[in-house]
Amino acid sequence: MWELADRYQLFVGGEWKDAASGERFDVINPATEEVVATVPNAGPKDIQEAIDKAAAAQVAWAETVAAERGKILSRAAALMHERVEDLARVMTLEEGKPLAESRGEIAYAASFLEWFAEEGRRIYGDTIPSSSPNKRILVLKRPVGVTAAITPWNFPAAMITRKLGPALAAGCTMVIKPSELTPLSALEIAKILEEAGLPKGVVSVVVGTDAPAIGQEIMRDFRVRKVSFTGSTEVGKILMRQAADTMKKVSFELGGHAPFIVFGDADIDAAVENAVASKMRGMGETCVSANRIYVQRSVVEEFTAKMSERLGRMQVGNGLEEGITVGPLIEPAAVEKVDRHVQDAVAKGATIVLGGQRPAASKGYFYAPTVISGVNEKMLVMQEETFGPVAAIVPFDDEDEVIAKANNTRYGLAAYYFTRDIGRVFRLAEQLEYGILGANDGMPSTAQAPFGGVKESGLGREGSKYGIEEYVDIKYISLGGIQK
Ligand code: NAP
Repeated sequence: MWELADRYQLFVGGEWKDAASGERFDVINPATEEVVATVPNAGPKDIQEAIDKAAAAQVAWAETVAAERGKILSRAAALMHERVEDLARVMTLEEGKPLAESRGEIAYAASFLEWFAEEGRRIYGDTIPSSSPNKRILVLKRPVGVTAAITPWNFPAAMITRKLGPALAAGCTMVIKPSELTPLSALEIAKILEEAGLPKGVVSVVVGTDAPAIGQEIMRDFRVRKVSFTGSTEVGKILMRQAADTMKKVSFELGGHAPFIVFGDADIDAAVENAVASKMRGMGETCVSANRIYVQRSVVEEFTAKMSERLGRMQVGNGLEEGITVGPLIEPAAVEKVDRHVQDAVAKGATIVLGGQRPAASKGYFYAPTVISGVNEKMLVMQEETFGPVAAIVPFDDEDEVIAKANNTRYGLAAYYFTRDIGRVFRLAEQLEYGILGANDGMPSTAQAPFGGVKESGLGREGSKYGIEEYVDIKYISLGGIQK
């Protein structure tokens, strides 16, 4: 039986080590407020060492053939499936999501390694007709070099493998900086990579409590040629400014504020089921979570009643326990933000149909599944990501009105809409300013699709054949002297 390692270490250049400072910090279980484990508190020195080791490993890793790199990724994915129970338990302990969701995330995380194990074999070049009979033009794609991943706590494994899979498949080395709130899943992935036979130095996992200092060290190092960040738009903007000094390649998966639109002609039961899935996955703490639920006036009463009935049946509690479907939020500040959104809506005239408060629990950062109706555009829930289990329902009258409202935000990650009108499916796909469109689908994320946002939700795509492009540089050879 596997046990939580009481003394986790950093994974730097293929070695398990303490932080240069010797300091450690606690990882807290958000369901019980107890310490789950302690982890070395890395700082700039540790990051520097990880980058040194990645730079030293880069050339040899890039020279490994794609099939060989793919085998290591496939072995790592297989180990993740084999250890799903242990990995899911670690995730639930540090992040709070119910075990069934953690198992789902481990499978989702492994799917990126599986997908890119194959995709790495298809980094094709081109030949281009030349304007001279004496020349030929050949396009090559080469790994960008040392890369870094900075990842959030809400998907402690999948946000890592979605970056790691394409980086390793393309022949890049990677330094990973997970969130200090969920470092254990990242360190478990490092163990798996080591066991899968990844050469030393190709991947390091370094985590500490001073994210701005660690981030700065990564951003100012010229040898890091690419940074992939998933997290808030606010931090994404800081990193984008910092990337300018060394002209790094960057990709950003940032905040969302997803509209979920239900037309009167939709299958209302399917719309409710999908709204529940989108809203409640990870307790609503996902970038693609339905945040603004627009329902056509003819069906708003039916939809609100059915949504409230479904959310009212959900079981809030410690995600390790059988039958729990809603875990805690990540930290006290998250509960405060959710409550502030609900109270603001009520003060501005909204009605609480369900929940609207912290459930009676002696410990843990819980918030009850909540439905509010009579919501308008002036309320905070309609202006910012709530990142919690609050379904804010707004009635609308016609298509043009709801498209304008849905687009009236600086975010552009995911949008959902439910309708049986095929013409409308295309009209909305074309007019909604979002990177991901769930047409009659509340769960569109999958390894083979190009995940990513427009506007202030980010730059670049992850997953799919496009995801690997973020980790290669395009070069060309102009070859002369062809004619006799
Ligand atoms: P966050 O505060 O931006 O943190 C994300 C990562 O950046 C963490 O590793 C964090 O470390 C680190 N960080 C914080 N400040 C930094 C700085 N100044 N320089 C360098 N790194 C820094 O976001 P979060 O609260 O963890 O995650 C929630 C956000 O992520 C939401 O906005 C959500 O929508 C977004 N998200 C987007 C996607 C997507 O694919 N578009 C997916 C998931 C989440 P510490 O945690 O240790 O402080």
